[in-house]
Parts: sequence; structure tokens; C-alpha cells
Amino acid sequence: MTDTPLTTRFAPSPTGPLHLGHVAAAFFARDHAGPHGRFLLRIEDIDTTRCREKFIAETLEDLAWVGLAWKGDVLRQSRRMPLYQETLTHLSERGLLYPCFCTRSEVRREAAEAFSAPHHAPDGSLIYPGTCQHMAPAERQRRLAEGQPHTLRLDVAKALATLRAPLMWRELDGSRVLCHPEAFGDVVLARRDTPASYHLCVTHDDAAQGVTLVTRGEDLRDVTSIHRLLQELMGWPEPVYAFHPLLCDASGKRLAKRDGALSIRALREAGATPHSVRQAARLSA
Ligand code: GLU
Repeated sequence: MTDTPLTTRFAPSPTGPLHLGHVAAAFFARDHAGPHGRFLLRIEDIDTTRCREKFIAETLEDLAWVGLAWKGDVLRQSRRMPLYQETLTHLSERGLLYPCFCTRSEVRREAAEAFSAPHHAPDGSLIYPGTCQHMAPAERQRRLAEGQPHTLRLDVAKALATLRAPLMWRELDGSRVLCHPEAFGDVVLARRDTPASYHLCVTHDDAAQGVTLVTRGEDLRDVTSIHRLLQELMGWPEPVYAFHPLLCDASGKRLAKRDGALSIRALREAGATPHSVRQAARLSA
């Protein structure tokens, strides 16, 4: 590995109160940046139906209380839609996107019809059988002209065909892992409700912010394949990846936002100190 100082980030989605799992992830990122690197904070709030201003304000306050300091301004994805649009335009001009008019229930039905058994991506989502990819151009134009709601999907097979070398990601120990973006099918890059998606925004902003080490939970390991594909398509730099275990409760269940009792707010109110919270958020692996 290089001795160049690393840039890392903590990128929570403000859909609930900050909990110990978040604090563990934030310290993992901060500690990997080291004393000479940069640790950034980014708020991933493109989902306007689930994200709340209140949770953003509380997140910043809780992180400061627990002793985390980040470099520079806090970046908010909801304010960066024009930048994501530029990326979509670029991919679309290369013929790598197609509009998909299917609703969620249609995707479920079509997937059941297309495959004998349900095909799931590594993240548990249903693999899209490509119905709208094969739509007649005139029909597609008609629906677009009528303003029918649609998502934009990445044509993964076409995208992979543009690459000159096998796609890999690199981990902190130097190991290389072969990517399998096709395992996710044609992922959505622009949603119906918001003209962007998690995969698009996270890779766009990691590149835009100069993040050189992406740290995230093990649950997001597999989606790295999609992110590496987007980086190659857009000519963005390739970061290194490090995955941390997820913090579990005493019964071994993964901490989730719904476990309000473990929110930093609740712990503070129950008399916890920043030190005790940092201790409780220590990752064991
Ligand atoms: N915003 C994502 C989340 O809260 C994490 C960002 C990432 O992919 O690292 O799950």
C-alpha cells in the first residue's frame, strides 16, 4: 500500500436517529484516514420521503458530542442533483441507459414469469428481467413523450462490453476481488421519485470528494461490483475498499435504526458519556 495520506468519509442516510452502529462506522472511517489523512462527512439524503432535517441536525450534533471532527463542509446529496444529472446524460449519450416503466409489482410479476425460480441479486433485490430493454423504440418514445413515470436502468451487459480488462476491486491488504455486476441485473440509476439512486450518488461523490479509501459495512461489500463498473464507465479514479463487521446487540442481532433504545440520543439521556459510547461502539473483528 502507498504511504500517501488517505481520504475517507462517513456517509449516513438520515432516515432515523444515529445509533451505535453508525458511530462504529464513523470511527472506522476516521481511524483509517489516520492523523495526516482527511475524514469527510457526507449526508446521503436523496430519498426525500424517508430522510428528515431533524435527523440531519441530530446526526451532526451526536457525532460532535461523541468526539468526531470532520474536514470541511458537510456535503448534502439532495443539493447535488444537477451533478448526478450530468452523469446520467453522459451514460445515456453512450447508449448505456434505458427507461423502465415497470412498477415494483410489475417487476415482481415479470421476474416470476421470466425465471422458473425467483432470481435475487446478492443484496436481496429481485433481478430485473429486462422487459423494457426490449421495448419497441416507437413505444418507448410514445411513453416518454406522454411523460409516463420511469426509472433509468444501466444496461449492464452493454456496459461490461465496453471494458477492456476484467473488473476488480482492491482491498486494503492489497488483495484484488473479481467484480460481478451482472449478478445485480440492470440496476436503477435514476429512480421514479428522485432522478438519482444510491449507486449513482455514492460513486459520483466519492470521486468528486477525492475519497481514496471507501470504508463501509460488510453488508455493502457485494455492491462494490456496481460501483467499480460506474467508476470505469465514467473514468473516475479507483478507490481502495475496506469493509467493517456490523455491530450486533447482545443476542447477536444486527443493530438497526428501529432499535431506538440504542440511539445515541437515548444513550445520552440515560447518562452515557462520549467515552462510554465510543467504547460501546468498538468493533471486535
Ligand atoms: N448511505 C449509506 C448507508 O447509510 C452508506 C454509504 C456507503 O455506501 O458507504 O447505508
